[in-house]
Amino acid sequence: MHDVIISGAGPSGSQCAEVLAKAGYRVALIERDANWRKPCGGLVSSRVLKLYPQIKKLNIPKIRGGVLYSADYHRVEYRRKDILFSTVMDRLELDNIMRDTAIDVGAELFDKNLAFDFISKNQEKIGIKTKSPSGVKEYHGKIIIVADGMSSKLAIKSGLRSKWKTEEISTAKCAIMEGANNLDEEFIYVYFKPYMGYGWIFPLGSNRFNIGCGIAGEDILRYNLNDIYTEFIGDPKIKEYIPGSNYKIIWSGSYPVPMVGVL
Ligand SMILES: Cc1cc2nc3c(=O)[nH]c(=O)nc-3n(C[C@H](O)[C@H](O)[C@H](O)COP(=O)(O)OP(=O)(O)OC[C@H]3O[C@@H](n4cnc5c(N)ncnc54)[C@H](O)[C@@H]3O)c2cc1C
Repeated sequence: MHDVIISGAGPSGSQCAEVLAKAGYRVALIERDANWRKPCGGLVSSRVLKLYPQIKKLNIPKIRGGVLYSADYHRVEYRRKDILFSTVMDRLELDNIMRDTAIDVGAELFDKNLAFDFISKNQEKIGIKTKSPSGVKEYHGKIIIVADGMSSKLAIKSGLRSKWKTEEISTAKCAIMEGANNLDEEFIYVYFKPYMGYGWIFPLGSNRFNIGCGIAGEDILRYNLNDIYTEFIGDPKIKEYIPGSNYKIIWSGSYPVPMVGVL
């Protein structure tokens, strides 16, 4: 029996686990697959770096500004030397650091456990059920925190939220690529599109970058995300920064993003 059961060891779950374990609670952190790399731009704000100072010791880009392009390619650039820097990371590395920090202060990780339902007693939720390689498992706790992302089944079963509506979501595709490029490693590059769309290139250092784009609301039904992505990475304005024709794709994936509430 734990005090707190947390479903999902992404940034939200791991941060909750860390805070509660530090405060003396017995925390079970339930994760379906700790090796999953969430499709993400990997932009990490300076506020996160304050909470995880160990990240600053890594060989990471120090982002101090941005280049923004309007739909007709008007360009706005800003750079501030006087602000705390943000950075860009491989998302798997960020998740591992946050999860390990929670484990170091006492949270117990239960990996390869897919949460699929609550355990209820007298109309109260007293735990969660998971599917693990050794069969169905039950985790009991006084407090249950659902932090298993936007495809969460538990969030819907809890009655706290309903299924996403098309106008509430965006869907994005991104990749980590490697190869010679003209990116300034102090900048992120963001593009706005004439339809409900956007794109980005974020430098990762060591000739790597995260590139991606998304479409939002009803445009998800109108456009094909793979076509939009192919068009985006081949766009002549993008090619100014990544002129090569044969970048090594380290990883790629697509995922929905909520457009309402907290991302
Ligand atoms: C394409 C894209 C680009 C983005 N770019 C950025 C960016 O550059 N910077 C930024 O700050 N934010 C970005 N975001 C948003 C960011 O990814 C989210 O805000 C963040 O991941 C939310 O963290 P979370 O812990 O709530 O959920 P998630 O990161 O989704 O974590 C949920 C965790 O729960 C686990 N899980 C899921 N289902 C179950 C289950 N049934 N049982 C057990 N475990 C489960 C998952 O494996 C995962 O570890 C982006 C999002 C997308 C989709």
